[in-house]
Formats: sequence, structure tokens, C-alpha cells
Amino acid sequence: MPTRRFADGEVVRGRWPGSSLYYEVEILSHDSKSQLYTVKYKDGTELELKESDIKPLTSFRQRKSGSASSSPSRRRGSRSRSRSRSPGRPPRSSRRSASASHQADRKEARKEILEVKLTPLVLKPFGNSINRYNGEPEHREKNDLPHKTTQVHTGSFSLQEKFHLPQESSYLSTQYSLRPRREEIKLKEIDAQEEKIVTEGPTSLRTFEVTTKQPKEVEFGGVPGFYAFILTSGLVGASLLWDVELYYVYNHFLQFALAATVWAVVLSVYLCARALKAPRNDLSPASSGNAIYDFFIGRELNPRIGTFDLKYFCELRPGLIGWVVINLVMLLAEMKVQNRAFPSLAMILVNSFQLLYVVDALWNEEALLTTMDITHDGFGFMLAFGDLVWVPFIYSFQAFYLVAHPNELSWPAASLIVALKLCGFIIFRCANSQKNAFRKNPNDPKLAHLKTIHTSTGKNLLVSGWWGFVRHPNYLGDLIMALAWSLPCGFSHILPYFYVIYFTALLVHREARDEHHCKRKYGLAWEKYCQRVPYRIFPHIY
Ligand code: NDP
Repeated sequence: MPTRRFADGEVVRGRWPGSSLYYEVEILSHDSKSQLYTVKYKDGTELELKESDIKPLTSFRQRKSGSASSSPSRRRGSRSRSRSRSPGRPPRSSRRSASASHQADRKEARKEILEVKLTPLVLKPFGNSINRYNGEPEHREKNDLPHKTTQVHTGSFSLQEKFHLPQESSYLSTQYSLRPRREEIKLKEIDAQEEKIVTEGPTSLRTFEVTTKQPKEVEFGGVPGFYAFILTSGLVGASLLWDVELYYVYNHFLQFALAATVWAVVLSVYLCARALKAPRNDLSPASSGNAIYDFFIGRELNPRIGTFDLKYFCELRPGLIGWVVINLVMLLAEMKVQNRAFPSLAMILVNSFQLLYVVDALWNEEALLTTMDITHDGFGFMLAFGDLVWVPFIYSFQAFYLVAHPNELSWPAASLIVALKLCGFIIFRCANSQKNAFRKNPNDPKLAHLKTIHTSTGKNLLVSGWWGFVRHPNYLGDLIMALAWSLPCGFSHILPYFYVIYFTALLVHREARDEHHCKRKYGLAWEKYCQRVPYRIFPHIY
């Protein structure tokens, strides 16, 4: 049985993929199957490394400062040309012309370029601002946030922590999975922005001023966001005016669902095929290299045709808008099937509740950018099927049920259900908005009263407010709403409760996945958060 050489929590030096440079890393875990170690660099980057790419601290000699090639001024010069980049990005060109006759000198120069580009930048997911990184695994709690967000002080990571193996090995092409994809994506956006280097101390700290061209703020989720919903509403209104038989959709519900399934499969095959050519930088952290698994989870993180983001589009437009259109069709079908002049109270509640949910999602569509679907999962069959089939055809199930199973609701019962729905909605919306606002701008004065835990990635975790109540208050609110959607259908059948049962299972599983990722990402800081906020979704229960 193979044994592991390094223990969890051990601080060692790990090779940066594609280079012969070693940086200080912490061992997070070890997979006995693949024999890979998950390690964390000081900038928060997590990689899987082979044992042969990890060395104990004692195997290294620190490089002496003061040599020609490592002088701070020279590095400064090279940085001004290369700009700040993530460690994973390859070098573009040699920064000095080395004499052909001085092979060793060239090799040295190449190493230096890598070192310059390996300076960690810790980026926030929003706002194009750069966070403060101090190089320590911090776990201190604070509620006074730093106020300068346009500057970054990188630690002595790149300057002081260059280590070389006594025997340098050649540049290797390696297979590693880079986890913090969001940072990569934001870096691409940062590429389009202007960065300017300002003063710095002699060797230890570097200060970069990032002049960002702020995009003009847009409301309603941007031009095509909410307008897609308004356009659809206009089309449905016109269909009603022109007496288009929308009842047809109810009568052919299964056929429509099957057609949507075919679309989802075709889309997944296309996504799978194009992912074969996708650069490694564009692959999802969830992808594994196994063809079947990747077909399901999605290999490419955010596949785009030009600037058109396929995943973002499918997550919000066809599924969500299709869902409320189908609900409306069911409302009309109920009136027709049950010969009613008006829809039933139960049907009105189901339609209004779910309409509110969809309108809220489209209105706050920016919040989608910090969800797991966008940041972690690839775009494959799971999301394609979920977006195009599951959401519109399964989530409309309560309305579908009411067409053939009338349930007369009393006003007091309806009032209680409305109160439940509003309670769930307030928790859901406030929790999501609080986290989104915090991720967008941790220095937002409106959030100044909240307590946070600092993490070694540079990002903070909220430990008070909604996120101090339970670890997933947004899931709690979502589940309360799900129950409120089912209750108008009465208690004579389990089917209207399918959604709330399925959704509970989904969110419990999702919470476990997120927990796993956060533990890897934030390490001890996450454990401290879990101690402070012991319940995951349901206070005092789970
Ligand atoms: P969340 O929006 O809850 O995002 C989880 C992430 O939030 C974590 O990975 C972490 O990312 C960050 N985070 C966690 N704890 C904290 C904290 N204390 N302080 C600051 N940041 C924290 O996850 P989901 O993407 O799963 O859900 C988004 C919404 O979508 C939820 O409301 C959910 O109910 C809903 N949903 C609805 C579905 C449906 O079918 N109706 C399906 C799935 C989800 P980081 O630190 O990197 O920012």
C-alpha cells in the first residue's frame, strides 16, 4: 500500500506547474487514489501536486539577494513591462536579450521572469479592486475593514521567497487543476484595464496603484437582462390578445418537455465538443478529465460565442422565463378545464409566488455571478438539462397539478401561506443581497456593522448578520418559499410536494459541496467560521 510522505498542515515547498520554481505551500489533503496532494500557495491558489513536485523546506537553499539578476530594481523594471499577473499565466517573452553564448545567463533570466509573474495578486470577485495580502494565515476577527481598495501590497512572496533546487530540472508540462477560476476570469477583465506602478520600498513591499476604468453602472441587470422578460411578457400578452391557443402547451406538455430534453442533449454534445479545444485556463475547476463525468458536470467553465455567455444566458433566460410562461399557461388551462371565469385562489398564489421568485432572480441577476453554478461548475449536461428542462417543466408542477386537481383555499389559510412565503423571501433576498454586497465591496459603509473573519486568501467571511445566523441563510429562505409554493395545492397528494422534497435534498447536497470547497479555500478560517456559526441551514436542527 502506497504511503504518503507529507502530512496535512505541513508547510513545504511545491513546484509551480510548468516551471522549476518552488514556493512555500501548505499541504491541505492527500488523495490516496490519485496520489496527488492538494496544496495551498500563499496567494490562496490551490493545486494538486505529485509527491515528486513537493520538497521539504530543508531541501532548499535561499537565493542570495544582491546578485545582478535578482536586484530589486531590475525586477521592478521587468514588472512594469509584464504587469501583475496570476501565477498560472505563462511568461510572454524574455525580458532581456541574453547573449547566445551565455546559456546559463539565459536560463537565469527565464527563471526571473517566472518569479516576477508569480507575484500573487488577490482579487475580489467584483469591483475590479485588489485586496490586501499580507502573506500570513490570518484568522483574526474584525469589523473594521481596510479602506483602501485600489492598492495592493504583495508580500515578500516573490521577492524573498525564491527557492531553487540544487539541481534544477527542466521545464515540464504538467497536468494540474487550477482551482481559483474566478481570479483567472477577473484577471482577464483586469487585462483590459490600466495598471500603474508607483513607489515601493527597497525589497519587502510593493505597492501597485490600479487605475480602473469603471464601467458605467447599469440597472435592471443590464440592457438584455430584465428586458428579455419584458419582451416575453409582451409576446404572451399579444398572444392572448390575438386569441392564440396557449392551452395547446398544456395538452402537449410532455412533447414540449421531450423537445426541450433533446435540445439539452444537443447543447451538451456541442459544449462537450467545443471544450476539447478549450484552453486549460478556461476549464472548470469541477472538471476531472473523465469524459463521461465532464460531459455531465461540464468541462468548460464559461463557454462563450464571441461575448455571448452560453451558461449565463441559459441559467437566467430560457429556464426561468419559460417556467413563468408555463405557469401562466396552466392558469389559463385551469379556467378552461374547470370552466371558471377566474383562476382559483390556489392557482393565483402559486403563479404569483413563483413569478416573484423569477422576477427577483432576473432583477438581481448580478448576484448569480457569485453562485457555485457560475464560479465552480462547468457548463455541461447537468446545467443544460437543469436550465432547459428541469426548471421550466418540473418547477411548474404545482400549477400543472392544480389544473386537474382543484383545491379551494380559505382566506385565512391563504393569508398564512402568504405570510410564510414573505418570511422565506425576506430571508432569501436579504441573505443573498448581504453576501453579494459584501463580495462586491467589503468596505461598503452599510456593512460596516458586520463582523468578519479574515482569511489567508485576502477575502473575508461574514460571521454576523444573516451569515452569522446559519451558514446558508439563503438556502433556508429558499426552502421556506418552496414549502409555501406547495401548500396551496392542499394535502391530498404528495406530487405538489415533490419540489420541496427534491429541493431540500438538492440544497443539503449543495451545502455539503460548498462546505467542502470553502474548507479547502479558507482552511482554518473556515473552521473558525463553523465554530462560530454551527448550524448549516436550519437553526438548532442542521
Ligand atoms: P451561495 O450563494 O450561498 O454561495 C456560496 C458561496 O458564498 C461560498 O462558496 C463562498 O464563496 C461564499 N460564502 C459562504 N459563506 C460566506 C460568508 N460567511 N461570508 C461571505 N461569503 C460566504 O451558494 P449557491 O450558489 O449554492 O446559491 C445561490 C442561491 O441560489 C441561493 O439562494 C440558493 O438557494 C439558490 N439556488 C436555487 C436553486 C433553484 O433551483 N431554485 C438551485 C441552487 C441554488 P466565496 O467565499 O468564494 O465568495
